[in-house]
Amino acid sequence: MKAFALPTPVGCVPTMGAFHEGHLALMRQARKECASVVVTLFVNPTQFGPNEDLSRYPRQEEVDTRLAESAGVDLLFIPSAEEMYPRRTTRVCVEEVTSLWEGALRPGHFEGVATVVLKLFNIVRPDVAYFGLKDLQQCAVIRRMVEDLDVPISLRFVETVRDSDGLALSSRNTYLSPEARAIAPEIFRSIALAAQAIGQQQDVDMAIERAVAALTAQGIAVEYLSLVDPITMSPIDRLESGCRLIVAARLDGVRLLDNVGINPDASAKIS
Ligand code: AMP
Repeated sequence: MKAFALPTPVGCVPTMGAFHEGHLALMRQARKECASVVVTLFVNPTQFGPNEDLSRYPRQEEVDTRLAESAGVDLLFIPSAEEMYPRRTTRVCVEEVTSLWEGALRPGHFEGVATVVLKLFNIVRPDVAYFGLKDLQQCAVIRRMVEDLDVPISLRFVETVRDSDGLALSSRNTYLSPEARAIAPEIFRSIALAAQAIGQQQDVDMAIERAVAALTAQGIAVEYLSLVDPITMSPIDRLESGCRLIVAARLDGVRLLDNVGINPDASAKIS
């Protein structure tokens, strides 16, 4: 392997590919703030459970290469699983912030995420790394790992990019049938309405119950819907500065995640 130096600061955007406007927003933000932008594209097998979608996860390297170029990316790093994992004897385990939500429902998931992200950090050696708030608990895990292990990297968290009907962009949206895609925006609508109610000091439990009922009525199965502290990921029962409403829901066999901040304008984008 040949070593070379990129102009600093170096910004890094870790991804699993199948780029959409959410990924591109992270790349553009990195482009604005950094002299060099490195994007990593690795569908990390260790963060998928045995019954999850690793084998059908969308892959489109050529399209992704063009999209990354269009966002001004300097280097697209696409390692193989063999290169990344000649052995799997060491793992990074972040405790506490992983005890609930995705951490509880997907055992081993965040160990896979933290391990691969630390490996990618050590390979790319960025000054700044970019993550999407769409995956709020992932942000909390990376933040905690960077603090606990004194990783010398600044983190930037970028707000979720949505389709025009409010659905959070996700590579997994391609799994939705046309019928499921038509009702999927209800996930954002319901949490945005609940966030608005909570922002107006209405009862948190009642706002959450209403949102769950609205989703259930549409045939959307809620796995969790809670107000949380975004740093600790602990549930909270009344409005606190910076708190966010998180949801995981399943429709048509597809798991979708979303979350919103609480502020008086949260409803502005809902028709
Ligand atoms: P993924 O390829 O799904 O692992 O995502 C790579 C990065 O893009 C992660 O930091 C995600 O949180 C972020 N991301 C995914 N979807 C969105 C979105 N809709 N808006 C902003 N960032 C996103």
